[in-house]
Amino acid sequence: MKCPKCQSMETKVIDSRVIEDGQSIRRRRECEFCNNRFTTFERKWFTELMVIKKDGSKEMYDREKLKRALMLACVKREMDKEEIENIINNLEAERSTDKNEISSKQIGDDILKALKNIDPVAYVRFASVYKSFDNLEDFKKYVE
Ligand SMILES: [Zn+2]
Repeated sequence: MKCPKCQSMETKVIDSRVIEDGQSIRRRRECEFCNNRFTTFERKWFTELMVIKKDGSKEMYDREKLKRALMLACVKREMDKEEIENIINNLEAERSTDKNEISSKQIGDDILKALKNIDPVAYVRFASVYKSFDNLEDFKKYVE
């Protein structure tokens, strides 16, 4: 890993920490040339996961899109960012092990299942409009 300051290739890892419930690793690195310290993150990359939409078309799984939808459902609720990350991490961990395709409906159902236990209000909001991963735009209008 190149040093962002002096571009030297001689950097070493001085600390590694598993974070986000084992889903990613944070490393502290130090440049052996200029002693600059920087941080890198290592996260499983879900390139393999394809989302099948209701009309049968496929698109790449988009973690950020899912996160935005969840944050909308949780607006003004006492749910922190970490909890939202956890919901998504669990979903990814569960869904990416055996197959590399998931239906948009399945994603919606998984999220609902997770929300039900954590925040009933967010659950109802999510359920009332956002019935599948396809309807993100409708959902956004509804919340606004
Ligand atoms: Zn350096």
